Amino acid sequence: MLRVESVSFAYGDKKVLSDVGFELAEGEVSSLLGVNGSGKTTLLKIISGLLKPQKGKVIVDNKAIEEIGSQGLSKTVAYMPQKTNGVFCTVFDAVLLGRKPHIGLEVSGHDIETTSRIINMLGLEHYAFKYTTELSGGELQKVVIARALAQEPKILLLDEPISHLDIKNQMEVMRLLVDITKTMNLTTVIVLHDLNMAMRFADKFLLLKDGEVYAYGDRDVVTPQAIRDVYRINVLVAQYMGLSVVIPELS
Ligand code: ADP
Repeated sequence: MLRVESVSFAYGDKKVLSDVGFELAEGEVSSLLGVNGSGKTTLLKIISGLLKPQKGKVIVDNKAIEEIGSQGLSKTVAYMPQKTNGVFCTVFDAVLLGRKPHIGLEVSGHDIETTSRIINMLGLEHYAFKYTTELSGGELQKVVIARALAQEPKILLLDEPISHLDIKNQMEVMRLLVDITKTMNLTTVIVLHDLNMAMRFADKFLLLKDGEVYAYGDRDVVTPQAIRDVYRINVLVAQYMGLSVVIPELS
């Protein structure tokens, strides 16, 4: 369980988040939505402990993250930034790197086992001994997700994990993230720009506007009015074969 309590944050005198609060359950995917610059990345960095808010706190499993400490936190929370520095190594080693918070002086049998299990789970077994430079964008994105999962986190934070992928890989990666969240009982937060992908795959929706929570809840909070207020565009939200589809209007 993840609870964010009245978090406010500023870079110097630039206020970015103000009084942000919400609670996310295990086994659920939440999409974090809002225009560029609304504070989404900053919020993920605060939850992962990379930035410290001036006010408020983040609670994971009833413990404030400062009490968990950086070692404990890196075992609990995995954060996948928008841009990841590609490491030149094999897929196996790249995923094994995710075990870093757990590894003592030596890599254990359990580290190797976990790495192999996650590589198989993501269908990367045929690539395990290929170099990361030999992969397509979609494959590489799965490797980065695999590395985050190798941490065995309870909380998975992903900043725009599908923005550079073609539609087939977008569908595959989103489906995978939903499956993993359910089977591993994770609390997953994904920054998404594609409202239709969010509507299709997320359980919950957190809309940020000017650094404040505009709305949080299930699909029902994503109304044409909410989208107009948050994104400043007019849309229709239609129902098609049980799916909610967001259609931007031209004017
Ligand atoms: P989003 O992820 O929604 O695009 P960000 O959290 O990246 O938003 O940024 C929120 C605001 O904070 C933006 O105005 C951005 O320019 C500013 N900002 C982000 N990082 C820094 C930083 N390191 N120093 C100063 N301002 C920053």
